[in-house]
Amino acid sequence: MGLAATIADSLLAVAFPRECRCCGNQVERKADGVACEACWSGYRFFTGRETACAKCGLFLGESESMFETFCRKCDDHAYGIARSAGPYRGPAAAEVISLKTNPFLSSRMQDAARVAFSDSFRDGADLLVPVPLSRKRFVERGYNQAALIAEFLGRSSGVAVDEASLQRVVDTPHHRAGMDRKARDLSVRNAFKVVRPKLIAGKSIILIDDVLTSGSTASYCAKALKKSGAARVDVFTLARAA
Ligand SMILES: [Zn+2]
Ligand SMILES: [Zn+2]
Repeated sequence: MGLAATIADSLLAVAFPRECRCCGNQVERKADGVACEACWSGYRFFTGRETACAKCGLFLGESESMFETFCRKCDDHAYGIARSAGPYRGPAAAEVISLKTNPFLSSRMQDAARVAFSDSFRDGADLLVPVPLSRKRFVERGYNQAALIAEFLGRSSGVAVDEASLQRVVDTPHHRAGMDRKARDLSVRNAFKVVRPKLIAGKSIILIDDVLTSGSTASYCAKALKKSGAARVDVFTLARAA
């Protein structure tokens, strides 16, 4: 069974009504996933008209800007542009958190991601590459949530998905005691390796992940892909943390 089918099947397996992960009220519709309709109504996916960093997509303000704006914190990041379906909060954050233990993506999230993806990458790409998990983490979890997202976006956009060429050779715990941001950054720096450079060389690649926070992980992935000759590496995530 393919990963796409896994998403569809677990969609059917989730029981409704269930408790909203945001407010505790009942979720009535399968399409809403882990949050209720009211919580989704209070949430806004990106429309592309808000002011955001032209490179990393960091949200900078509700009103539309006439000029290209840059946050400047992402200047040295190795990817071209990073885009997301919506801000990391409320029901979108609940869905991203849930995706780590439950391979399920609501159709509400899928629809928004599909639209944001095609709006952001009108020229298409050659390959979608999910940000890999370490072998250890993959075995613990049983699947890579970024690969689930890449599978479904690949299916809807027709872009091929490559889940094997980029690998994570170092396991970097998100919250290890005594590991500050600098130490973590150092261990992420050499965490990624391209194992099949021939499949990467000359390709226009969109890196896929669940959430973009500082962007440093995506940048190190992009660096590894470019070292193997990738012509261009952009990033797409479901959610964007501030
Ligand atoms: Zn709710
Ligand atoms: Zn930026």
